[in-house]
Amino acid sequence: MVVLNQAKRLELLEKLVAIPSVNDHEQAVAQFLHIYLSKYGISSQLVQVAPDRACLVAQIGTGTPCLALAGHLDVVAATASAWQSDPFVLTERNEKLYGRGASDMKAGVAALVIALIELVHAKKLPKGQVRLLLTVGEEMEQAGSKLLYEQGYMQDVDALLIAEPTDLKVAYAHKGSMDISVISRGKSAHSSMPEQGYNALEPLIEFLYQTKKTFLKVAKPDELLGNATFNATVLKAGSQVNSLPELATTEINVRTTPTVDKEKVQALIELWKNKLNATGAKLTTTTYLNKVAVKKDPDSSLVHLAQALGEKYLGQTIKKIALAPVTDASNLTLDKPATFPLAIFGPGNQSVHQVDEYVDKSQYLAFCELYQALIVQYLEK
Ligand SMILES: [Zn+2]
Repeated sequence: MVVLNQAKRLELLEKLVAIPSVNDHEQAVAQFLHIYLSKYGISSQLVQVAPDRACLVAQIGTGTPCLALAGHLDVVAATASAWQSDPFVLTERNEKLYGRGASDMKAGVAALVIALIELVHAKKLPKGQVRLLLTVGEEMEQAGSKLLYEQGYMQDVDALLIAEPTDLKVAYAHKGSMDISVISRGKSAHSSMPEQGYNALEPLIEFLYQTKKTFLKVAKPDELLGNATFNATVLKAGSQVNSLPELATTEINVRTTPTVDKEKVQALIELWKNKLNATGAKLTTTTYLNKVAVKKDPDSSLVHLAQALGEKYLGQTIKKIALAPVTDASNLTLDKPATFPLAIFGPGNQSVHQVDEYVDKSQYLAFCELYQALIVQYLEK
């Protein structure tokens, strides 16, 4: 006997989408799920990250193995006027469920929660433990997974499933992402008398040109993840056409790989900063965010199980891939070896972060079943 029938499963997703947890307001979703789980006899705890921001952790069973199930509670913003229907009202059209977070990733979170409730009530959980880790700020700085990692929630974990939308594929790897800001200081002067000042923009442009050129020369492709990439994405300087800017700033995003990692990139940044500063520039650089690249076992039992159950419940071949975007795995698997079983596998598609984001209704419902089988079969091994 199921505890949550199809209507209740759809209703849970609808309620999650209705809470607009756009980046830093995830507490309301965490609280809602805390109460929801408790109604079905599952205790959980909020782990406060900041005011109005809390992760949710629930733990079932004891001993080994310990399988962690992760998802994030935040969604990206939505401009309601561009959508066909209110992004925070889950709306069904042609067997598709539209809403912000429908794919990324409230469907995944709901399916994990439903799987846990069903298994606990059916008393189907074999030996070992299941730990649900719901995070905040995944789309931004990943503050939630960072805190859970630091507080030791991953220490005894033997395998990790992340329910991110993977469009009917299973991922075990992705690039990292590094954010760097560069400040160039000069001296303002009237542009008719430039010798009285120092144009802060010029060394910054030279810095960007040279670092990118050197990066392209030294960055060797990773056999699985491909090329690391380097992109200046923000540039600001000056306020008036006839004044030399005294300040110029840029921000750079680097998508890293195990071969082109933070240390390599930072060495390059230092090299050109020092060279230009030796000629009179005043450049300072700060790496303010670093999410490491992830490359785990493509043939772990968890990946194989996800593939087999995917074929059974979703009716098609499930390919193994490296994912393009970064996930909470960067933090959660930080001290896990390359042999660690990681599967990123969840309901949803490539409509993530877009207008009219949706999840296929049948796919969402299939994952509610699939996750139950996956948890039981993994723990039984
Ligand atoms: Zn996501």
